[in-house]
Amino acid sequence: MLRNKSYYLWDIGCQMNRADARRVAEELERRGYVPVERPEQAGLMILNTCVVRQSAEDKVVGRLNSLKPLTQDGEDAPGRALLVMGCFVSDERDLQAAYPFVDRFLKPSDIAGLVEFVDRWEEAQDAPLPDPTRPAEVAELVPISYGCDHHCTYCIVTIRRGDMQSRPIAEIVADVRGLVQRGAREVTLLGQNVDDYGSDLPERPDLADVLRAIHDIEGLWRIRFLTSHPKDMTQRIIDAVAELPKVCPSWELALQSGDNEVLRRMARGYTIEHFYELMQRIRQAVPDSTINTDIIVGFPGETEEQFEHTRQVLEELRFDMVHIAAYSPRPGTPSARWEDDVPPEEKERRRVVLEQLQERIAGEHNARLLDQQVDVLVDGQQRGRWRGRTRGNKLVFFESEQEWLGRLARVRITWTGPWSMIGEVVGEGTA
Ligand code: SF4
Repeated sequence: MLRNKSYYLWDIGCQMNRADARRVAEELERRGYVPVERPEQAGLMILNTCVVRQSAEDKVVGRLNSLKPLTQDGEDAPGRALLVMGCFVSDERDLQAAYPFVDRFLKPSDIAGLVEFVDRWEEAQDAPLPDPTRPAEVAELVPISYGCDHHCTYCIVTIRRGDMQSRPIAEIVADVRGLVQRGAREVTLLGQNVDDYGSDLPERPDLADVLRAIHDIEGLWRIRFLTSHPKDMTQRIIDAVAELPKVCPSWELALQSGDNEVLRRMARGYTIEHFYELMQRIRQAVPDSTINTDIIVGFPGETEEQFEHTRQVLEELRFDMVHIAAYSPRPGTPSARWEDDVPPEEKERRRVVLEQLQERIAGEHNARLLDQQVDVLVDGQQRGRWRGRTRGNKLVFFESEQEWLGRLARVRITWTGPWSMIGEVVGEGTA
């Protein structure tokens, strides 16, 4: 008999990893497992890993080694297994040799492999299979594709996750419908590059088709998607966002650099002129758009002048939010073979310059909402306040004695900062 039907899930990395973690949790809970907070309480320990930057990889290795004493090679433990999945997993044989105390390594998003392991592991331990139904979060993440067909020179994700593999639309619709039935009111469609969704499927559907296919699901109020690639964003997708009221006007459009030579060496496949033109089309078609982006500073060979181009682009395009990362070489990528010639302190200086610029711009964007009324989908509580997001994905907090989880609140904004806002409820929002 299985001693312990509980699981500990440690998760790090991007939204795709969070979506994978959700699917892992669902599969385990469907099999009767309950989540626990500490690994020593668990029968199954799962690390869902990320190596997109060196700092993330260091955390994974630290976590892995800290769990060794809890495995069968450590001081314990019959009836306990350790699984490692995600982008840390490249060559399983090498990893197995380096970490013999791990029961199974699984590639990123290999939920089927995990289920197969768990089923066989349970069979060996003669466990029963109860069937609880896991309630959904208010805002859920739904992968629509895995992998990516681009080969950006710094990117390890595409090496670890492989080429684009799109899920059929019918499967996505069923997934979203199931989440809505279990309480979800918002879904974010995920892919390494959602704008290229369907390019590997025979009928070649695109993201616009997915948005239309899920749009009329009753009980679903909001739809988002990320990440978009400037080269693959089509007018058809922009028009779908403009036309479909449930699709939120918020975009995650990864720029990475504001300099054409750096973009060329990153192999991004577009120019800064193209990016400006795309932003203009988006803002024209969807005037209330909020647009976020990603920037890497200190890419190999990035000169002060090239960095200055990026700074100017951020000043001019005025994104709502910018995720700024200092470049770190990832083994196996083309750029890892080039000299990492921007010193760490200079990378940090460039990162801080952009952070400070963006803090001002984000503060100015949000200040325009002062005294305005916004509809906030409430997804939880934080430090005694309700927490939710606007259609433009802005974080809003408010105080109320009422129960607001999973509801839309109309909130008048009374304070704004660069990263969040505070307001007071004036009534129910509309879906
Ligand atoms: S678009 Fe580029 S950065 Fe994004 S996942 Fe694909 S290869 Fe990586």
